Amino acid sequence: MIVYIDMDDVLCNFTEAFNQALALNPAIRFPQSQYRFFTALAPKEGAIEAVSALLASDRYDPYILTAPSVKNPLCYTEKRVWVGDHLGMEMVERLIICRNKSLLKGDYLIDDNVTGRRQEAFEGQLLHFGSAEYPDWRAVRDYLSV
Ligand SMILES: [Mg+2]
Repeated sequence: MIVYIDMDDVLCNFTEAFNQALALNPAIRFPQSQYRFFTALAPKEGAIEAVSALLASDRYDPYILTAPSVKNPLCYTEKRVWVGDHLGMEMVERLIICRNKSLLKGDYLIDDNVTGRRQEAFEGQLLHFGSAEYPDWRAVRDYLSV
């Protein structure tokens, strides 16, 4: 089964870094447009282990499916660097950067947003990361039995 995994606030802690950057410089309008913003993001708790478990499972075929911050051209490269640094080349080869998540065929999409990047039109099952049902990686792994 093909599983797509979102990056921001699913694999990496986007919101925490966003709020920290705003606290340091309240005048900044787009903290995510700063050089090295994406490479410096911290992994979410349990995310690295969950990807490893999905890769090791013979039932799942995991891919990363992330929408770019289009106003920051560096974000495309920085997302690739982050995946290489934290997850390795096997996941770099499984990195998909796409603004319309409904275009990809698969069984599951793990995403903290249910709309905005056409998540609602994804043909498989959307696991709403951070919701009451799937609050964290432990809950997602329990559901997928991995
Ligand atoms: Mg996200």
